[in-house]
Amino acid sequence: MRTQLPEAFLATSQGQRANEILRACVHCGFCNATCPTYQVLGDERDGPRGRIYLMKEMFESGEPNLIASDHLDRCLTCRACETTCPSGVDYGELLEIGRATLEPKLQRSLMERMKRFFMLRLLPHPHRLARITAPVRWLRPLLPRRLRPLLPIASGKSVASSADDSTSVILLQGCVQRQLTPATNERLLNICQRLGLRAGFVADEGCCGGLALHLAEETHAQERMAATASALNEALPDDGVIVSSASGCGVTVKDYGRLLAGTVAAEDGARVAEATLDVAEFLLPYADQLTASQPQLRLAVQTPCTLQHGQKLPDVVTQILEAVGYELVSVSDPHLCCGSAGVYSVLQPKISSELAERKLAALNSEQPDVIVSANVGCQTHLAGRSKTPVKHWLELIE
Ligand code: SF4
Ligand code: SF4
Repeated sequence: MRTQLPEAFLATSQGQRANEILRACVHCGFCNATCPTYQVLGDERDGPRGRIYLMKEMFESGEPNLIASDHLDRCLTCRACETTCPSGVDYGELLEIGRATLEPKLQRSLMERMKRFFMLRLLPHPHRLARITAPVRWLRPLLPRRLRPLLPIASGKSVASSADDSTSVILLQGCVQRQLTPATNERLLNICQRLGLRAGFVADEGCCGGLALHLAEETHAQERMAATASALNEALPDDGVIVSSASGCGVTVKDYGRLLAGTVAAEDGARVAEATLDVAEFLLPYADQLTASQPQLRLAVQTPCTLQHGQKLPDVVTQILEAVGYELVSVSDPHLCCGSAGVYSVLQPKISSELAERKLAALNSEQPDVIVSANVGCQTHLAGRSKTPVKHWLELIE
């Protein structure tokens, strides 16, 4: 794609990167075929190719574009388009630049600003979230579906096993996961202990910054990422690993090398990113020592976009579940997003609901006993609507 970005923008690292990414796009449109929002809305501007054009126009004119803003807001950041693109266009990174450029110039409505303020001040803060959600957990089934993911699924209890000098496996708790689905952390710690691994959590692990990145709150995201990179780096021994059991957090932490480059936290970020693995990647070499906790169950696997498109690990969960003996049912269109996408279900409830219904229809088509996911956001989003139980896949492993 030919570009004519302003010199002032090209003089910045973001401008240079945006230019490189735009020029890699040959506007073939293959990506539209796998874009969930294009499938639901049928508008070229709600597909990746259209959004790339809109961003190019916006960068070239240097002006905020309110129409572009609506179409960029409707993007799930699922990155299915990256998986499909034959030219290797880094769409996710381009969108990050586009949103960061646009956001400070936008006049959002009061309601929009309130939603964003509430999510940014509550969700990444486990103690605040716990104080508000724990006493009203019983209200979950009575809430509108789009709000159910904000209340905990009543299972498990908070686990406390702090990393010390002997810990070689740092387990990421996830700020939302530790409150909404504590059974996942509990089970992972248990599995590591049974495998004889010295595993523990970092007590002052904060939010990875992914949520603020989703909201294009750049300063907030940088602060959160730097703080988390520093805490993890301090706890991480030589040859240690960091294991993420929420693929939405893992995809962000694995990208700290790029996201924190050029900042004071660059070194911490690069070391932490290098040491981070998704839990399925981490456990795969131990698969012959794991067993199925309920081998009679037939499972439908929902592979989160952050795992398959973000971390480029489409098959690791299914490999482990098959290795321990589970029967997995086939699921059509596994590349399509379930509509959770961080805070998307709150900001874009209609499209999010439509995608959740489509995803559940695909997951339930072979009548599985349980649906399993690898990310707390997808798990709670689908569980709020599903008659079939939705669990983290670790809960099915001994
Ligand atoms: S598939 Fe890739 S090259 Fe083709 S339009 Fe989409 S982003 Fe551009
Ligand atoms: S990230 Fe997902 S929703 Fe956004 S343009 Fe790409 S495929 Fe479509």
